[in-house]
Amino acid sequence: MSQEWNIRSRGHVCSICQKPLVDRSPVISALKETPGGYDRFDCHPECWKVGERDWEPFSQWDGVYLAPKKEERKEPLKKEDAGELLRKLMTLDDPAMKNVVYVLAVMLERSKILVERDAKDLEDGTIRRVYEDRKNGDTFVILDPRIRLENLGEVQQQVVALLSGTKTLGEVAGEAEKSEGEAENGGEGSDNAADGADSGGDNLV
Ligand SMILES: [Zn+2]
Repeated sequence: MSQEWNIRSRGHVCSICQKPLVDRSPVISALKETPGGYDRFDCHPECWKVGERDWEPFSQWDGVYLAPKKEERKEPLKKEDAGELLRKLMTLDDPAMKNVVYVLAVMLERSKILVERDAKDLEDGTIRRVYEDRKNGDTFVILDPRIRLENLGEVQQQVVALLSGTKTLGEVAGEAEKSEGEAENGGEGSDNAADGADSGGDNLV
C-alpha cells in the first residue's frame, strides 16, 4: 500500500441494510483494507452481528453515531483550525510531513477532538493508528513515525508555526526533509518518543 494515511468519513446510513443510522445510537465501525487504502463500514450492531463476511477488518470499534448539527460551526476557532490543518496535511499526503501529521493528531487527541480507536503493528514494522473525530466521526489512519525524543520539540514547533501562520506548509516540508536527511546520517541514539508521548504528553501544546 503506497498511501501512508487515509481519511474516511463516517457514513450516515448503515453499510449493510442501508437504513439511516439513528442519532446517539450505537454504531459499529470497521475498516477494510483495499489495494487503494481502506473501505469504511458503519453499521447497526445487529446488522454487523448477523452479516456474513469473507474478510477480516483491518480495524473495528464500537462508537456512538451522532447526527450532523449546524451548531458545530461555533467551535473555538483555534481547535477547528487544528482539525482543518490535519485534513489538509492528510490530503496532501506528503511523506516529508509524516512527523508533523502524527504530532498534530496526538495534540488533537489530547484536546479531546480525536479519539484513538486502534493501533496496528504492520508486517513491515510500522504502526498505523486509527483516530476518529469525536464529533463528525471521520476516521484518520495515521502512520506512527516513532519520532525520536530529541526531534519531538522541533516537530512541535513546526506544528505551532503552522497553526499560528508564521510558517507555510512548504517551509515546514523543506525543514522536515532536511532534518530527515540529517537523522539518517546521525548516530544511533534512538529513544522512541512515541512512548514518551503516550505517558508524558502533557508537554504537547
Ligand atoms: Zn443496518
